[in-house]
Amino acid sequence: MIFDVLTLFPEMIQNHLQFSILKRAVDSGVIDVRTVNPRDFTLDKHKKVDDTPYGGGAGMVLMPQPYVDAYESVEKIENSITIMLSPQGEPLKEGLVKELANYDQIVMLCGHYEGFDERIREIIKPREISIGDFVLTGGELPALCVIDAVSRKIEGTLGKIESANDDSFADGLLEYPQYTKPREYRGLRVPDVLLNGNHKEINEFRQEQRIKRTKERRPDLMC
Ligand code: SAM
Repeated sequence: MIFDVLTLFPEMIQNHLQFSILKRAVDSGVIDVRTVNPRDFTLDKHKKVDDTPYGGGAGMVLMPQPYVDAYESVEKIENSITIMLSPQGEPLKEGLVKELANYDQIVMLCGHYEGFDERIREIIKPREISIGDFVLTGGELPALCVIDAVSRKIEGTLGKIESANDDSFADGLLEYPQYTKPREYRGLRVPDVLLNGNHKEINEFRQEQRIKRTKERRPDLMC
């Protein structure tokens, strides 16, 4: 999977990939994360990428030329999708993550400041994706959310891909409670059923817990 990220702050993306599971995925070639900086495409000697909004208003808007030129510089392969990180986009949920994992290349546009000049949308026609109903200062964290969530679905990122099958949302429910050593901590004991080695009973217990937890915490998922 290739991720091409258009960002004014490439270090924010690259720094995050220096650790843990995503670092291993990069080092082993399971994912390739490349960055393109629209600032390198400005025709302006001051490398300006934003300007004041027509019609007035606070903040600065990202100008179309550096973004469109940066986007057009990215070589697209056959099975590729372009997404724009935007609080106005469709919510990033498990189903969308799985769908994105079927592509071989995801090109992402990260906004900043007041966001994109509308003509960037009109020319590039990206799919817009939001990570939630709140507004962040930039699209880099949302892009990293996409990279992280999608990478977990790709064979070779996790030690065992099956470990993602029990995760919350994988089949619509939240995950069951997990325990590790010691058996007792501050008077709280691991449920006996998890210690008896009977896998049928363990699976039944876990399934009950998943349903109970989902009903309590996310009844909307049960519909
Ligand atoms: N003025 C825009 C609006 O109200 O829709 C918000 C711009 S925001 C301050 C700057 C950039 O951060 C956006 O262009 C987008 O790339 C990113 N961003 C902020 N919140 C986001 C979210 N919830 N999901 C995805 N991207 C987001």
